[in-house]
Amino acid sequence: MNNPTLAAPVAAAPEILDIQQTACCIVGGGPAGAVLALLLARQGIKVILLEVHRDLDRDFRGDTIHHSTMEIMAELGLADRFLTV
Ligand SMILES: Cc1cc2nc3c(=O)[nH]c(=O)nc-3n(C[C@H](O)[C@H](O)[C@H](O)COP(=O)(O)OP(=O)(O)OC[C@H]3O[C@@H](n4cnc5c(N)ncnc54)[C@H](O)[C@@H]3O)c2cc1C
Repeated sequence: MNNPTLAAPVAAAPEILDIQQTACCIVGGGPAGAVLALLLARQGIKVILLEVHRDLDRDFRGDTIHHSTMEIMAELGLADRFLTV
């Protein structure tokens, strides 16, 4: 049999650096993941938020703050702090 997938080398499993228990694991620390993590944590739910990037050194996406974004920030009680950034 000549099956290239069988002949391909098996990738090494990534090294496990840490193991933690949580009630909720959110993958992605963008606006959606960060706000969800905040809302769950405020409800006393143990959350782990995983973000693959260690810094913000990538295409900047925040040159426009929409009205609806400010409404959400206000609902979260973060509008004043948001405007100081
Ligand atoms: C070029 C551009 C410009 C924009 N400009 C504006 C703007 O000026 N104003 C505005 O309001 N909106 C802007 N947007 C839209 C805004 O960026 C999105 O609406 C918003 O980022 C969506 O948030 P999100 O959390 O759903 O996804 P994302 O912001 O994409 O967040 C997802 C996160 O998950 C992480 N991730 C992905 N896979 C994994 C993984 N396997 N493990 C761990 N982490 C992972 C990513 O690194 C990322 O941080 C722009 C978008 C683009 C593309």
